[in-house]
Amino acid sequence: MKKNLQTLCVQSGWKPKKGEPRVLPIYQSTTFKYDTSEEMGKLFDLEESGYFYTRLANPTNDAVASKINDLEGGVGAILTSSGQAANFYAIFNICEAGDHFIAASQIYGGTYNLFGVTLKKLGIECTFIDEEASDEEIEKAFRPNTKCFFGETISNPGCHVFDIERFAEMAHRYGIPLIVDNTFATPILCRPFEWGADIVTHSTTKYMDGHASQVGGAIVDSGHFDWEAHADKFPGLTTPDASYHGLTYTKAFGKNAYISKILAQLMRDVGAIPSPTNCFLLNLGLETLHLRMPRHSENGLKVARWLKANPKVAWVHYSGLPDSPDYPLARKYLPDGQCGVISFGLKGTREEAIRFMDQLEFVAIVTHVADARTCVLHPASHTHRQLSDEQLREAGIAPDLIRLSVGIEHVDDIIADLSQAMEKM
Ligand SMILES: *Cc1c(COP(=O)(O)O)cnc(C)c1O
Repeated sequence: MKKNLQTLCVQSGWKPKKGEPRVLPIYQSTTFKYDTSEEMGKLFDLEESGYFYTRLANPTNDAVASKINDLEGGVGAILTSSGQAANFYAIFNICEAGDHFIAASQIYGGTYNLFGVTLKKLGIECTFIDEEASDEEIEKAFRPNTKCFFGETISNPGCHVFDIERFAEMAHRYGIPLIVDNTFATPILCRPFEWGADIVTHSTTKYMDGHASQVGGAIVDSGHFDWEAHADKFPGLTTPDASYHGLTYTKAFGKNAYISKILAQLMRDVGAIPSPTNCFLLNLGLETLHLRMPRHSENGLKVARWLKANPKVAWVHYSGLPDSPDYPLARKYLPDGQCGVISFGLKGTREEAIRFMDQLEFVAIVTHVADARTCVLHPASHTHRQLSDEQLREAGIAPDLIRLSVGIEHVDDIIADLSQAMEKM
């Protein structure tokens, strides 16, 4: 029986058997016991599935991965220690030294650095494209060694909406998968697989957790991309892995090849796992995700409208506003809401923007976004301070951009706080 998202949020994942705890238990154990040496050996050969060491798999973590997989409609998912680790694994699983990939330039600053600087040191090159450019212009970025295309459903912090269907179609024409970071939308507002995306990543630190209590990430595979049909591009998945007794992932795991390779190779060798306790906290957040996302979106739209009408505000970017250039994309991909994140600029100097933020009462200045509490951040002086002005502009971030993350408090109180701070400017 196919279940609705609301039911999946609450019921999916942990399936207790007779006499087992109803609530997801925290298996805070590195290791698991077996009776014979042979039993253990079979697990190492990937011949049988079972738990033996938490770096590779843990029942608490797996239950939560399975819930996220169900919410996205995938065939397999894995949790990581952070969103950064999720995006690193998602790319590194199919790219190696000498390879190239393409990413939208409007993406999270941490991801922009990972792609442009750190992966480059590993010999993997990324071309950042302007999503507004024509297909013809963007297609110039494709090379014979291009292995994937990457974008964010709703970009952090610019709040730009990624045209998933358009880029999925383009990536597939070149025989490569589309990877979408679905952090801000969450599967409650958008399910990228329904629009042709092949892989989805998350920083579960944000709305999925929703309470700012753990840092984590997730990778989900739709199972749609046919690696064997493009075997020459993806030898890591389609030829024998010498580090696993010559096992070939596509042959051994079929539709689960991509996630199985992350688990067997990248988790084994790099080990960016979340703790079972963090997964427990994440699961609590997921249980109410379907209640929180509509409220974040409703409050977000009301605050965006208020800002838009305020004479002290120079500009507002929120894709739910009908005069936003992204409104048509929001109607298509985010018809049930556009989350609580708004970017806007104040009239006046950069210093005045800082003064405004300092005057806020309960709306806090924090290096975080997308949780129950309303918060603000000035990317140019906080998260993105390592980017040059030119890189800032390329990433769609004006130096005066304030990122406002609207929480689930009463919207009148949020607006009252913003209003009193603006009056003091
Ligand atoms: C925060 C964020 C990340 C990085 O996630 P962490 O959990 O902080 O490592 C990646 N992508 C997006 C869109 C984000 O907002």
